[in-house]
Amino acid sequence: MINFDIKEEDGRARNGCIEVNGKKALTPLFMPVATRGSLRTLSNEEAIEMGYEAIIANAYHLLMKPGLEVIKKGGGIHRYINWPSIIFTDSGGFQMIRAGFDQDISLEGVNFKSETDGKVIKMTPEENINLQKDLGADISMCLDFCPPHPADKDTLQRSVDITSLWAQRCKDVGHNTFCISQGGIDDQLRARSCRELVEIGFDGYAIGGLSIGEPKKEMYRMLDIADEVYPKDKPRYIMGLGSPVDILESVSRGIDIFDSAYPTRNARHGTILTSQGRLSIENGSLKDDHGPLDGSCRCPACENYSRSYINHLFRSNELSGLRLATIHNLSFMYRLMEDSRTAIKEGRFESYKESFVNDYK
Ligand SMILES: [Zn+2]
Repeated sequence: MINFDIKEEDGRARNGCIEVNGKKALTPLFMPVATRGSLRTLSNEEAIEMGYEAIIANAYHLLMKPGLEVIKKGGGIHRYINWPSIIFTDSGGFQMIRAGFDQDISLEGVNFKSETDGKVIKMTPEENINLQKDLGADISMCLDFCPPHPADKDTLQRSVDITSLWAQRCKDVGHNTFCISQGGIDDQLRARSCRELVEIGFDGYAIGGLSIGEPKKEMYRMLDIADEVYPKDKPRYIMGLGSPVDILESVSRGIDIFDSAYPTRNARHGTILTSQGRLSIENGSLKDDHGPLDGSCRCPACENYSRSYINHLFRSNELSGLRLATIHNLSFMYRLMEDSRTAIKEGRFESYKESFVNDYK
């Protein structure tokens, strides 16, 4: 059972609280991506100390490695990865299909090759939700069919048909489950996908198949369609969207939940998120910059270290550079969501968003 309370509204932006299995998270919520149960370079308790209340792991990757039985023996996913707060799991449908097996999608399910021994594994929507449930996830995501962008109308239509059919079968398993709409950037198909999912009825409603190369304004239009069709009293989640400006634009369109590897992946590649925009830490000009990564940030990387030092760590391939950059980027994202919630509470989200976007070059 998932509870979702909307506490405040400001335009279409909302402050809420999602509650599941006795655990709570405030929305708008950003979830770091722990595909294999790890945030890379950080221990999971470090993210909890930053304030994070939810992460998303990937059922497909965990099935491949270390395997369901190992995680079950380890006490279930919360204990195994030491994350006591909310864990969402993604079905892994996106990865299975991206691995190039889309010819093996049928009404029945997906066939994909195991990463470990090359064997063909069949996965039905029911088996997928049972896998997420057996891992011990608090919230499962439906198995969906996300075609690549651009896709022709027939492919999009087929993806909507299959996604709706699978969604019903996922629902019938009876777990805390969010559905995922498809339809690419086709207005009618996107609206139909959302409507069919609403008719089935879910605990939460995600939007999939976006942020995969389509123009931003098309993506925002799809969010407007989802906002129209999806029920106002349920959490809405856009999958895989992580740039700060995109997140704020989505919050202003009624989206509550986000996940992305954007802050952690960028950190490992030396891209620092700051209130003035992205900063490439390896830039030679930072050698003599003894200020913090971001003057307005209070994270341990900004409180204790300079741009010059972190530039030196990156240029010397020291692992602590990746760690400090990750600590900062995840702290930055946490603060972005916290500031958004405060702005919504005070009824000034639009002006907060405009001023953030203006400064973030
Ligand atoms: Zn910082």
